[in-house]
Amino acid sequence: MTSNQHRIAVMPGDGIGAEVMEAALGVLDAAERRFGFATARERVPGGALLYRETGAALPEDSFNRARDADAILFGAMGWPDIRYPDGTEIAPQLELRVRLDLFAGVRPIRAIPGVRGALADPRAETIDLVILRESTEGMFASRGKGLVTHDYAEDTQRITRACTEKLSHFAFNLARRRKSRGGKGLVTLVDKANVFASFAFMRQVFHEVAARHPDIAARHHYVDAMALDLVRRPWEFDVLPMENLFGDILSDLGAGLIGGMGFAPSADVGATHALFQPSHGSAPDIAGQGIANPTAMILSLAMMLDWLAETRAAPALADAAAAITGAVDTAFGTHRLRTADLGGATGTVALGRTIAALVADGAVDPT
Ligand code: ATP
Repeated sequence: MTSNQHRIAVMPGDGIGAEVMEAALGVLDAAERRFGFATARERVPGGALLYRETGAALPEDSFNRARDADAILFGAMGWPDIRYPDGTEIAPQLELRVRLDLFAGVRPIRAIPGVRGALADPRAETIDLVILRESTEGMFASRGKGLVTHDYAEDTQRITRACTEKLSHFAFNLARRRKSRGGKGLVTLVDKANVFASFAFMRQVFHEVAARHPDIAARHHYVDAMALDLVRRPWEFDVLPMENLFGDILSDLGAGLIGGMGFAPSADVGATHALFQPSHGSAPDIAGQGIANPTAMILSLAMMLDWLAETRAAPALADAAAAITGAVDTAFGTHRLRTADLGGATGTVALGRTIAALVADGAVDPT
């Protein structure tokens, strides 16, 4: 392995996870050739089907290999009728988030040219926001620990100062980077501080951190009002940090605004590690048919290259990330390709190849 090789743990997982991963790796091949960098990719097993075969969804060796890589590229894991004995779903991604402290779930909701989302308003073409889902605590801190008696059940939400401070700094730094590329420079905390002490605490800590980022505007918004405003005026928002369960829900709403789950990428980022995966799951209803939209996976790949560019001081990777994003826009906007989720006939492999070709031939200017 040469010193400029980046080690990538490739975890395709279950269902369409494996299908969209293949498409993304073809795009990565093209980006490497054009921009002169190399990755060392290691396939790392995990997922619900592995659990059914072996009794382990994320074997310790897989965890170690993911942890030791420079970045993790992840498809999707889980399958509805394969469950742990307590009835919960197989979700190694949740385990990786907690064990690697990937506290920041970055979920860009950006309108892609030519892709019609749920809103008819022409301003929907300018939607460009990021749902920043706290990913290690909140309601999910109760996962596997809830109390169930004959008469009642109870899950407890946990919000810590340390994590809220980290998430808030992350939000302001992200807004500043986006502002340098034409973003709005606005961070809006989404909470329910009018009802719960934990959210009043979160809001207070958020504003303490905001005072240290005076160049970025800081606001807060109740989650119920945000559900309304994400439908009514999503183009006005920029970076939206929020508690874990709120982020889980609102990121699916956000995906609906831009054409569906097939268009929503994500990154789970911590201080030292990061995992990149589409926001969608393994989609058993369409798995094996070759019709999954690989765009979310390919845009997650672009996010991985951007993150590596920044954390490993490798500017060529930032150019590659921009070229991939541009190629996605060209495929849908200029070439008018239509995947099955848009009612079209372009399959997973065909879209992946088109985007790879656009990246390879330089038809898309990375600037
Ligand atoms: P999870 O809880 O594991 O995130 P989920 O239960 O929310 O998963 P998904 O697997 O994300 O469900 O699928 C939700 C719906 O979106 C399904 O109808 C699925 O077919 C569709 N879908 C998800 N991803 C894609 C994709 N890449 N292309 C086309 N349709 C998709």
